[in-house]
Amino acid sequence: MEYVQNAAAGTAPLTPLRPCATHTLHYRCKLLVVGGGSGGCTIAAKFARRLQKDAVIVLEPSDVHYYQPLWTLVAAGVTSVASTRRSARSVLPSQARWLRDSASSVDPARQAVVTTNGTSSTMNTS
Ligand SMILES: Cc1cc2nc3c(=O)[nH]c(=O)nc-3n(C[C@H](O)[C@H](O)[C@H](O)COP(=O)(O)OP(=O)(O)OC[C@H]3O[C@@H](n4cnc5c(N)ncnc54)[C@H](O)[C@@H]3O)c2cc1C
Repeated sequence: MEYVQNAAAGTAPLTPLRPCATHTLHYRCKLLVVGGGSGGCTIAAKFARRLQKDAVIVLEPSDVHYYQPLWTLVAAGVTSVASTRRSARSVLPSQARWLRDSASSVDPARQAVVTTNGTSSTMNTS
């Protein structure tokens, strides 16, 4: 209460703002795949077979993968939505590193992608 009264009177001591704690993680890779959908899984698997473990990074925020081409058959009543669903881990190549995060910006000149998910990560493919 005293602080509020002092603040109102303009005599409250100034408290310095504490800097916000953020973490920046840097990952290096040979190939960065943004999105672990059917296209991303396919290209990641193709390169992960040829490159060292974790040389391929897949940036995919969802832990659920949907095989969308089957959705036409779902609409036709031939199959269920559940049959199109897999865990992302089960469809992403084990040789690749999965970062459960979203790309927020791409910097082609630096070959870097910045992600946002509480922390920010920068990946450099050079
Ligand atoms: C009803 C329907 C029927 C279809 N039928 C066929 C068919 O018969 N044959 C066929 O070849 N194709 C078909 N398609 C097209 C098919 O969906 C695409 O060929 C295929 O899914 C595209 O794969 P993709 O990886 O490019 O995109 P998606 O499978 O959509 O995957 C995109 C991924 O990117 C992720 N993502 C989004 N934003 C970000 C971000 N900022 N950072 C990181 N990750 C992000 C998402 O979470 C998602 O996992 C059909 C599509 C629909 C909707």
